[in-house]
Amino acid sequence: MAVTLETPLSRVLGPKTATGMAEQLDLYTVRDLLRHYPRRYASRGEQADLADVQVGDRVTVLAQVRSVSTRPMRNRRGSLTEVVVGDGRGQMKLVFFNHRHGALKVNAWGMFAGTVGEYRGEKQFAHPDMHLLDGDSGDDDWARALIPIYPASKDVSSWVIQKSVKLLLGPQADLTGLVEDPLPEDVRARHGILPLAAALLDIHRPTTADDVDRAVHRLKWDEALILQLTLAARRRAAALEPGLARPRRRGGLLDAVDAALPFDLTDGQRAVGEELAAELDRAQPMHRLLQGEVGSGKTVVALRAMAQVVDAGGQAALLAPTEVLAAQHARGIRQLLGPLGRAGEIDGDPSGTRVTLLTGSLRTAAKREARAEVAEGRAGIVIGTHALLQEGVEFADLGLVVVDEQHRFGVEQRDALRAKGSRPPHVLVMTATPIPRTVAMTVYGDLEISTLRQLPSGRGGVSSSVVPVRERRAWLDRAWERLREEVAAGRQAYVVCPRIGEEEGADDEPEDVDGAPEDEPTSDRRPPLAVLDIAEMLRSGPLAGLRLDVLHGRLTPEEKDARMRAFADRELDVLVATTVVEVGVDVPNATVMVVMDADRFGVSQLHQLRGRVARGAHAGLCLLVTEAPSGSPTGQRLAAVAATSDGFELARLDLETRREGDILGAAQSGRRSGVRLLSLLADEELIAAARVEATALLETERGLADHPGLAAEVARLATDERADYLEKA
Ligand code: ADP
Ligand code: MG
Repeated sequence: MAVTLETPLSRVLGPKTATGMAEQLDLYTVRDLLRHYPRRYASRGEQADLADVQVGDRVTVLAQVRSVSTRPMRNRRGSLTEVVVGDGRGQMKLVFFNHRHGALKVNAWGMFAGTVGEYRGEKQFAHPDMHLLDGDSGDDDWARALIPIYPASKDVSSWVIQKSVKLLLGPQADLTGLVEDPLPEDVRARHGILPLAAALLDIHRPTTADDVDRAVHRLKWDEALILQLTLAARRRAAALEPGLARPRRRGGLLDAVDAALPFDLTDGQRAVGEELAAELDRAQPMHRLLQGEVGSGKTVVALRAMAQVVDAGGQAALLAPTEVLAAQHARGIRQLLGPLGRAGEIDGDPSGTRVTLLTGSLRTAAKREARAEVAEGRAGIVIGTHALLQEGVEFADLGLVVVDEQHRFGVEQRDALRAKGSRPPHVLVMTATPIPRTVAMTVYGDLEISTLRQLPSGRGGVSSSVVPVRERRAWLDRAWERLREEVAAGRQAYVVCPRIGEEEGADDEPEDVDGAPEDEPTSDRRPPLAVLDIAEMLRSGPLAGLRLDVLHGRLTPEEKDARMRAFADRELDVLVATTVVEVGVDVPNATVMVVMDADRFGVSQLHQLRGRVARGAHAGLCLLVTEAPSGSPTGQRLAAVAATSDGFELARLDLETRREGDILGAAQSGRRSGVRLLSLLADEELIAAARVEATALLETERGLADHPGLAAEVARLATDERADYLEKA
């Protein structure tokens, strides 16, 4: 039987194995299995895995039997067998009840898999799955220097995967799909890339570490090239879309905005503004990413672009990641526009427009009214959250979509909003998280990029410190004193905690937390500090007498808005909050940011939080309170955040502490983004080279017509992405 990459596994493997692979590992076809790469390679005697495994981990280890002892159980019938296995550095106990494995003899080598448990302080496996190496005669796999260890599941062990792969790649196998390498030969030659068949053979059945390296290099190329082809195709398609030019008109909303601004634009804001104005004046829709340091003044740049579109007769939508932020934008823009933003109202200016806020929490009648304003074109400026993406929201003439704080939105959401225009609108995406070059080439590869480097002058700057409470209890007392001093001087403060508190429930998650490092054990730590508890503690203790309130995701949108407004109007001194204040919140009089349990937040998040203070002329203070020892990796991560305010450097640090999948996943959607091996951090050169090749391939007259293999891979990625999106929606 000829087997291709598309052949279902159920046709080449036993039914039990095939079912297990499908249900537990998400592997359905020969392609899926061959792209299920080993996590690592074990070699006898050298591995230190046993020393490193953690309780609760599901692991597969290669080890040698050191001792076997069987005794009757004390309180029950039957016997207990204890087997000690070692791997050179560490050792571990296996426990079996009523065990009858005659082959488990001292010195035997085997692979043992299961969840690591603990008994009386010792790590152990209770009745693990195992596969003894000796006695499996005729099996050359164990003679190999490198034994692949696969991501496995309860019913599909690493060695079953190994055997199944061997079946497909072995000498008798007839894998016609593997002979046709989708990579063009000249590309392969230019970059010294192995053929696909050789690479797959080497990654699954290597003889030396070099084999693995070369195979990985080749397979990374596949991932990078497919990704870049997808993005290049997206750029080309976008360039061909017929949009509508929205030229600048004098004497309209834009001029009114400029006249009303209480400050001069920075040079950067001016330059980017001109870039945007020119692009909006073209029929080909703009696709631009505006990145600018926290507090660099992106909002006003966006507002000016929106005003230009309104002046040209279109509508502009501003999509914000949270209701708090959407409400703040609406408030700020309405204030700035004055009567020009209230056309149709008694005191409104009929030559102006309406600013409409559309969020999920509006009552039905208000929502209906808002939708009508949008649909009939009375609302020139529409501000909202995800609710804008919903069905039933129609625009009369959507000319510009602005997405604020992009990292919360994926490509699909951007597309969903764009689809609301009768013609493709212009798109401006804004992010405060500076984007390293590789990420710009991948996650944001379909956008042009503008950068605001400069902060408006006259900013006080923020000084940051870590407060390691275990080592320096007194520093925390001092922190509350500093906060009181600032309040006494007329300033305001935020205290941020990772959790809301009181009843524990599914909705007790901090809003929108992302970027928290994954590599740290969480199970044995105390629960994160909670807003409600800390607020109580502060009220009755160090901050007694100050006007203090809480803000978190369990409040109704009206309550949230009212408290945010009270804080902005200086009716409150201290806001104890979850990360609802993380993005975008703008209260220039606030100067102190105290982050409790700072170690529970990601690097970018901390940088964002810090960006909430010193937005006016006064200097700011950011205190990162943590129980982590200052010498620990976590302590050092916090120290790095405190030491630099350079967003680019922090973005890189963030990338290092997060997993690839999370970075891509956030915007590129999930497990099937096609990226398994590629590292955004380490593979910058490869990604850049793939980008050049991808662009060149698509620029030829025939495009991918001569490369059906590549075209099929690109199509497959697109299908998987869509499938993922639908699944999530
Ligand atoms: P971000 O880029 O983080 O979204 P904002 O757009 O919220 O920043 O702007 C931060 C603060 O700086 C706001 O209070 C805004 O009014 C103010 N601002 C923006 N541009 C200028 C400027 N050119 N001069 C002074 N203040 C400015
Ligand atoms: Mg902002």
